[in-house]
Order: sequence, then structure tokens, then C-alpha cells
Amino acid sequence: SAASEALDRLIATVPGFPEPGILFRDLTPVLADPDALRAVASELAASAHGPYDAIAGVEARGFALAAAAAAVSGTGLVLIRKAGKLPRAVYRREYALEYGTAALELHRDELPRGSRVLLVDDVLATGGTLEAALGLLADAGLQVAGVSVALELAALGGRARLARDDVRAIAVV
Ligand code: IMP
Repeated sequence: SAASEALDRLIATVPGFPEPGILFRDLTPVLADPDALRAVASELAASAHGPYDAIAGVEARGFALAAAAAAVSGTGLVLIRKAGKLPRAVYRREYALEYGTAALELHRDELPRGSRVLLVDDVLATGGTLEAALGLLADAGLQVAGVSVALELAALGGRARLARDDVRAIAVV
């Protein structure tokens, strides 16, 4: 697809960021390219199983793609944020990092229970982030219309960890 070709061409691979031994995939050139951004946003927006009421994006790079996809699809955007950023009552899910834990939060009253939500992030790596995000959607009584990322790092096993049949990646390395 146009979107997968744009991702293959534009994603920058940065060795040693944020720490030695990591091969970081930098999607900022995709956001900066108008045709690539539109193609990726359109493919994300079209990747759901059936209709949906909103797109949920994961802080921070997921926000950019989720917002663009929501604008394409004519739906709203829901923010899944790092702990302590959302001002009203939240659901909270902790997840393991290499050292210690982190937490994601979702406003309790962002959408009516039963709403259908497409979950979007930039990169699927180990799957811990999207697993926590899915937990928040479940806590809020929301239906998942799909889980879509721009890039999947296949060697890290996130797809198996999520164990769902509705996980879509536009590009895979
Ligand atoms: P996971 O929880 O291990 O699947 O990591 C996914 C999260 O970490 C996503 O929110 C990504 O934004 C971020 N991430 C992990 N690896 C990369 C990378 O190589 N480039 C950009 N973001 C990454």
C-alpha cells in the first residue's frame, strides 16, 4: 500500500537510542511528510472491524497518528495518557518496564459505556503498552473495534502477547 511504502521509505532507524543496544525506529519523518501522513492516517482509519465511535491514542507519539486518523474518519479522539496528566477521575493500569513500572490512565467518563473504539499507537514492540491500554478500554466498558499500529517490531513478540485477531500493522520489521 501507499502507506506501507511511505513507512518503509521514511522511518529512520537510530542505533543506540535511548540507550546502547536499542535500535530505535523514528517515525517523525512520516509525520512531517504530507502524503505519508495522509496515507498512514487513512489506512489506520480504515483498519477497524466495523464502525467505531472514536479513536483512542496512546501518549505521546500515538496521539499524532490517532488524531490524524480520527480527523480522516470523522470520529472523536480519546487520550490514553501517562499517569498524573489527566485532571478528572481516571481508570489506571500499571505495566512493567524493563526497570520498574509505568501506568496509563483514561478519563472515566470520556465516552458512554458500550461505545466502539479503535485503539491506535505508533509502534507495537513487546505489547505491554497496548495491553495496558486495552485494560483501560475494558475498565471503561468500551468495545474494541480493532488495535492498529503504524509499525510492528515482530521480534519483540507483542502480537502473541496481545493474543487477539484484530491487531493490524501497516508495516512490519
Ligand atoms: P511496548 O509496550 O514494548 O509494545 O512498546 C510500545 C511503546 O513504546 C509505544 O508506545 C511506542 O511509542 C514505544 N516504542 C517502543 N519501541 C519504539 C521504537 O523503536 N520507536 C518508537 N517508539 C517505540
